[in-house]
Amino acid sequence: MRLARPVVFGNWKMNGLRAEGLALAGTLAERAVRLTGTLGVFPPFTLIHAVAQRVKGSGILVGGQDCHEKASGAYTGCVAAPMLADAGATAVILGHSERRHGLGETDALVRAKLVAARAAGLLVVLCIGETEAEYLTGARSARLRAQLDGSLPEGIGPEGLVVAYEPVWAIGTGRTPTAEEIRATHGEIRELLARRIVGGEEVPLLYGGSVKPDNAAEIMALADVDGVLVGGASLDARSFWTIYQAGGGA
Ligand code: PEP
Repeated sequence: MRLARPVVFGNWKMNGLRAEGLALAGTLAERAVRLTGTLGVFPPFTLIHAVAQRVKGSGILVGGQDCHEKASGAYTGCVAAPMLADAGATAVILGHSERRHGLGETDALVRAKLVAARAAGLLVVLCIGETEAEYLTGARSARLRAQLDGSLPEGIGPEGLVVAYEPVWAIGTGRTPTAEEIRATHGEIRELLARRIVGGEEVPLLYGGSVKPDNAAEIMALADVDGVLVGGASLDARSFWTIYQAGGGA
């Protein structure tokens, strides 16, 4: 199924107790009278069920921020993809830089998780992005190619896949690449996906990294940018909704 544009997803990270999460989800659900784009929130595991209940019928999608590569077993503290689906999630973020760099997740692990998530019927938001050192030394393209090659299983189709380009150095820093850099990078990723996956040019591409209400319109107007993945600004309903509207969403 083709996702309506703009695709605007909010990664709440490790933020929100029940009261805050439900208030945020409730405000968004009230605004989402008839969604013309795709709006989604990715709360902490503990809030997925409650948030999914709260936004039920609004069209807002709810997802997890990670899943384990196995469907069940002796993996203390981990959450499996079928558990996310059982809690009401229909999507999952995989390969976020805070997991790749903070927790040492490799491309191979991300690939195994991706297979598990797809088997559980979840939409996968695969994050890729270069570090600041790679950006400064011109190694960005090579890094993105390697991450896509390593994280995407052989024979994967375009359905149920979204790719988010998130430069590590832009996440939570207030810094972003220039508009021209974002456009060019998304064009490269589009080409890489088209070469790697049959129908890969259809995969929605999101930009992520310090997206705010005041830069969202410019970013989402760029060629090959189908939407955004928002961290900090997604914790405020007004900011998040303004970002969604800046991409043409109503
Ligand atoms: C993110 O963590 O995916 C992200 C894009 O964060 P922020 O918007 O806060 O930079």
